[in-house]
Amino acid sequence: MFKRIFHIYVIPFFLSVCYTIGLGFWDYLFRLKDIPVFFAVLIFNTYFFIYLNQSRGNVIKDIALFLFFILSLYISTSTGFLQGHMSLGIVASAFQTNQNEAFEFFSIISAKYLVFSLILFLSTFYYLYKYDSEFKVSFNKKVVFFLLFLNIINTFFVQTLVALNKYKKEEKILTEDNTGFTDWKIKKITPKYDNQIIIIGESVPRAYLSLYGFKEKTTPFLDKAPVEFIDHYISTAPNTATSLVRTLAYMDENHDIDIKRNVVTLANQAKYNTIWISNQGFLGKNDTAVSRIAIHANHKFFLKSGNYRSKNTDDDVLLGILNSQLNKYKDQKNVIFIHMMGSHPDACERLFKQPKMYPQYGNSINCYLSSFNKLDSFIQSVYTRLGKTKRSFSITYFSDHGMTVHQAGYNVDNKTKKNYDIPFFILASDIKKRNKIEKIVSAYDFLNIYAGQLGVQSLYLNDKRNLKEIPTNENVQVFNWENYIPYHSLD
Ligand SMILES: [Zn+2]
Repeated sequence: MFKRIFHIYVIPFFLSVCYTIGLGFWDYLFRLKDIPVFFAVLIFNTYFFIYLNQSRGNVIKDIALFLFFILSLYISTSTGFLQGHMSLGIVASAFQTNQNEAFEFFSIISAKYLVFSLILFLSTFYYLYKYDSEFKVSFNKKVVFFLLFLNIINTFFVQTLVALNKYKKEEKILTEDNTGFTDWKIKKITPKYDNQIIIIGESVPRAYLSLYGFKEKTTPFLDKAPVEFIDHYISTAPNTATSLVRTLAYMDENHDIDIKRNVVTLANQAKYNTIWISNQGFLGKNDTAVSRIAIHANHKFFLKSGNYRSKNTDDDVLLGILNSQLNKYKDQKNVIFIHMMGSHPDACERLFKQPKMYPQYGNSINCYLSSFNKLDSFIQSVYTRLGKTKRSFSITYFSDHGMTVHQAGYNVDNKTKKNYDIPFFILASDIKKRNKIEKIVSAYDFLNIYAGQLGVQSLYLNDKRNLKEIPTNENVQVFNWENYIPYHSLD
């Protein structure tokens, strides 16, 4: 009995394990509901191998060997090992490697993966054509039919086709009405700073920062730093994509958004070197909208080629890229955008080395508040790093939207002021003392404020609405996912 199992199953099972892992199906093991998928692929394919081995002089066997050769080539790139099963992200990085400097598709080919895939392919050949066991498994026609459909070759190619299709759709959204030159009609350029850093935060309501008076010390660095902050800054909309598109791109009186006329193209036309460094997703339902703006940057670094959930990367990785870019472009005037994952739910997953500091609250709020301490350290690191450059700089920070926070947790919503009340502050080489700007300012004025920081005047913008001169705004509107409504009408 044991001998029979050994002779029949050991080699095909082992080959299946190697293909399953090498093609990236291992990542199904990390989500409880996906675990059966992994084992289904493994088991079906084991029988598929046994069927191929037992069939003699069969054209299916030759075709399968050829397809296993292609799979081995893919495995040799290490993509499956490192990035998991075939996805939109993998296809995107294959197509976007030249545009996005953080994508390194096919660049990590190393000897060990080549050797692995070579041995795997030779073993496959040996098993299919040379291995002869005295024990056989009998397959009826239905089972054969089933195996010919549900084997790892088909699973992999179907996944690839689905991912390709998704990519083509997202790529179309990415580029639609979004290529070519846009004239900002610039009147004047008087650059103020050598390095301008714009940090786009995620899911940070200002009421929970000690900078804005929260009782816990969530922002100890900012509490003492020479920071200029607006005490009442209001986001354009209550979630990432709707808010950032309206903040970073030009919108006319009819609320028509001109995506090409955005923060990046303005800086480009003003002869700044533009760099976009993002820990959010590159392509996907919620991510492509912001990428439509980001793709205009001269240099792009997306840590995730798929959507924002495609992997979990520490925001601190952004600091390393910022550092290398500051070194690389130390003689140019730079505008550098940093898009954080910040405090995005679930905040516990954003902490990494940051300790949880507020055990008196429930775990969820403990993580959320601690993620603001992590943000505070992040800002401090950026400020310290820029200080070392001996060049003039400014750092602007704002969050994309606020949040509804309750005892048990927090969530995105559109109904209360808290969903739109966000922090906005600036640190700069020429700001030496704290200054609270007591005004109501809408993020719909961000382009005006930003242009003021850049020292750029454009016919599309109002240069009187810079940070210093902008009047308080009693009639702020917000986009609540359906309409533009008065902020003051919210609870
Ligand atoms: Zn967001």
